[in-house]
Amino acid sequence: MLKIALPNKGRLSEEVRELFNDAGLEVRIRGERALTASLGGEFEAIFVRAQDIPEFVADGAAQAGVTGWDLVNEAGRELDLLMDLEFGKCRLVVAAREESGITSADGVKDGMRVASCFPRLTQEFFSKRGQKVTVVPVSGAAEIAPHLGIADIVVDLTSTGSTLKMNGLREVATVLESSARLVASKRNDAEAARNLEELKQALGSVLAARGKRYLMTNVPRKALPKVRDVLPGLNGPTVVDIMNGGDYVAVHAVVPAKTIYRTINALKALGCEGILVTRIERLMP
Ligand code: AMP
Repeated sequence: MLKIALPNKGRLSEEVRELFNDAGLEVRIRGERALTASLGGEFEAIFVRAQDIPEFVADGAAQAGVTGWDLVNEAGRELDLLMDLEFGKCRLVVAAREESGITSADGVKDGMRVASCFPRLTQEFFSKRGQKVTVVPVSGAAEIAPHLGIADIVVDLTSTGSTLKMNGLREVATVLESSARLVASKRNDAEAARNLEELKQALGSVLAARGKRYLMTNVPRKALPKVRDVLPGLNGPTVVDIMNGGDYVAVHAVVPAKTIYRTINALKALGCEGILVTRIERLMP
């Protein structure tokens, strides 16, 4: 049985469970405080704090885990990065008070105090730049430290920037770009690696499907060449005869979800009818 460490609460936990469920690895938990859950097949989930996951996986208590790339880097343990799960996107940034006059990392003076929940990455960032700062480790709410006089600047996570702004802080440099990642232990044997490859493919097929839609439409036969330009599809669109369809044929294609409205409008302009768009559960090109 392969143990996968997943966040038990916090920002990443819901989306991780949703992704595993969509990949057919249903997280079956009994009660909110469950410590483990069967994922079906070869996998078992263990629920731990997102911060602890890099340690658990590095020590081999779990063969793989899902957590933020920021936390993996802060832990500084050797792990194999298997895949970027593309959610939980955020940046670890240096931020200073608006009125401080600091507008870039160069404005940070030697001796300044930097509050952060990421003391290791903070120290590393400034050391590499040859700046001597004093890191003040905090376990949360670093953004209030400058107002309390505990620190001059902060190194904190942000996604929209609104929390920093609300606290009168200005982003002046990026330390790290983060998102949720699937990581594996360096101690895994060949069988574990094979099973993890299957897990990776299952999760990857769901991620690939999320950005795509399956589109079906009836197309006037003479408009087919132009429709092909609008609908490249994975291997060019599928064209199917319609019983008693007259001058129309049916066209099916996988299209990017982002531009679906533009695609629909282009098809309508070419005389297409009966346009149907559905979500795709999994995509394995
Ligand atoms: P938690 O503190 O348990 O809610 O989880 C925090 C993790 O969620 C972080 O380590 C990041 O990997 C991720 N995350 C994504 N967006 C943000 C954000 N805007 N602020 C803080 N953490 C974020």
